[in-house]
Amino acid sequence: MDGSSFIKHGRNMLEYINKYIRNTEQFPVYPHVKPGYLRHLVPEKAPDQPDTWPSIMTDVEDHIMPGVTHWQHRHFHAYFPAGNSYPSILADMLSDAIGSVGFSWSANPACTELEMIVVDWLAKMMKLPKHFMFSTEGSRGGGVIQGSASECTLVCLLAARDRAIKDLQLKYPDEDKAVLLSKLVAYCSKQAHSSVEKATMIGFVKLRQLPTDENYSLRGSTLLHAIKNDEEKGLVPFYVVGTLGTTSVCSCDNLEELGKVCSERNIWFHCDGAYAGNALICPEFSYLLKGFKLLDSFNFNPNKWMMVNFDCSVMWVRQKELLISAMNVDPLYLTHDKKDETVDYRHWTIPLSRRFRSLKLWFVIRSYGVHGLQNYIRKHVQLAKIFAACVVSDNRFELIGQVRFGLVCFRLLGDNVRTELLLKTINESRKLHLTPSKVDDKFVIRFAICHPNANEDDITYAWNVIQDEVELILNPRMSSDSNQLNQCNNKEQENSSPIMHSLLNKLKNFNTNAQAPYFRTVE
Ligand code: PLP
Repeated sequence: MDGSSFIKHGRNMLEYINKYIRNTEQFPVYPHVKPGYLRHLVPEKAPDQPDTWPSIMTDVEDHIMPGVTHWQHRHFHAYFPAGNSYPSILADMLSDAIGSVGFSWSANPACTELEMIVVDWLAKMMKLPKHFMFSTEGSRGGGVIQGSASECTLVCLLAARDRAIKDLQLKYPDEDKAVLLSKLVAYCSKQAHSSVEKATMIGFVKLRQLPTDENYSLRGSTLLHAIKNDEEKGLVPFYVVGTLGTTSVCSCDNLEELGKVCSERNIWFHCDGAYAGNALICPEFSYLLKGFKLLDSFNFNPNKWMMVNFDCSVMWVRQKELLISAMNVDPLYLTHDKKDETVDYRHWTIPLSRRFRSLKLWFVIRSYGVHGLQNYIRKHVQLAKIFAACVVSDNRFELIGQVRFGLVCFRLLGDNVRTELLLKTINESRKLHLTPSKVDDKFVIRFAICHPNANEDDITYAWNVIQDEVELILNPRMSSDSNQLNQCNNKEQENSSPIMHSLLNKLKNFNTNAQAPYFRTVE
């Protein structure tokens, strides 16, 4: 492709993207495809000769789009929002065009310097403790953009592990490193994201997933009890992950209490605020900063709730040298003569290669301004409260957890199977897309406000769909299936009963062949 074709197809692609974003609702929010659908639609081997642009784009429309889950759809309320906006898309285009691999200052000075500036901007926007900022006089800390929250939790665990092993080696100089490693224990709440468990698996350390209080919050006394138990067994607590906005129910751990326990014992205290951390840009959420001064590290994902595309998870550390000493390898081909005067981010991350991700943060923050971003978050919070009010107004349902951010967790009263069935029928209708979680053995439906321009009509629509589906499965006069469900519930039969099996099988197969209209833009 030469420059003039790039301009021609680029214009076409911008129009296509714009049309897609403006008309996503023409698609079903979740695709009508089965595993392996694409293999039958594209050639078995790569073309030997160049294909034409129109034929590539035709295949995008005919084969790719029908298999896409539309995360930017108005009726997508699953997981957490996937950040998106025009400025972010454009910034990523520029990053791709610059095409640099900014692993060190020397490899792309602007990439490193802009990253250092935007992470400080964000720290100020969120009123984070000054020890996290590069620009604070005498600061030993700083921020970095990682690809994901999972990486943040892992690299902080690696830094904490490195520090703990070095401390133990001073105490037990003759002990084998593997023996010392076997003594390390990390802690998080039962509601913490699975990435914490994965980090401990990769880091080869033990993990205690601790119970929470009635608000699904991990408390200091629970942590202290677990730590004392482990210390009595000769184990070494070294890493605690608190969560600000758990995935399952958006609860917040008591960071102040946990931080006190950690600082008394020199345990690395990390906070994962992947989604809810974004709310800290609004002053009304500043109360959540209680305990932040005790943190060794913190991360949140602008790619969830700040209109920045994936990938972009920002992480700060109090003492950057602890991270660097855990990750530093220094071959001659990567060194440069300015390395002592600045930051080389290759020592802060697992991959060596790094994209120019700060551009999208910079573009988005400048394009919307702090106030624009605050308003976006506030709108989502307001809509979540409206949806929660609908749930509360219907005595067949219960809310699970508090509604502070843009996530509402709810369930039908009674056996889990009712809520499981409701979720299944809603998702199979393709009218909404929702995902579940399990909170203290209760199966709950998570309703996340996701669309960047979500409004009250979307909530009304969603609540009407949910009401219709509830009627369908709970009202015995409306379907024979619901008769069966009621019989099943009355007899307190379990999910595994033959009646429930046949009902679930029926539900599995209905409504999967409908086709939705697609738009064609390539002549
Ligand atoms: N932590 C929390 C609280 C999350 O909600 C999620 C994902 O939703 C993650 C971590 C993992 O995020 P990532 O995909 O950036 O690794």
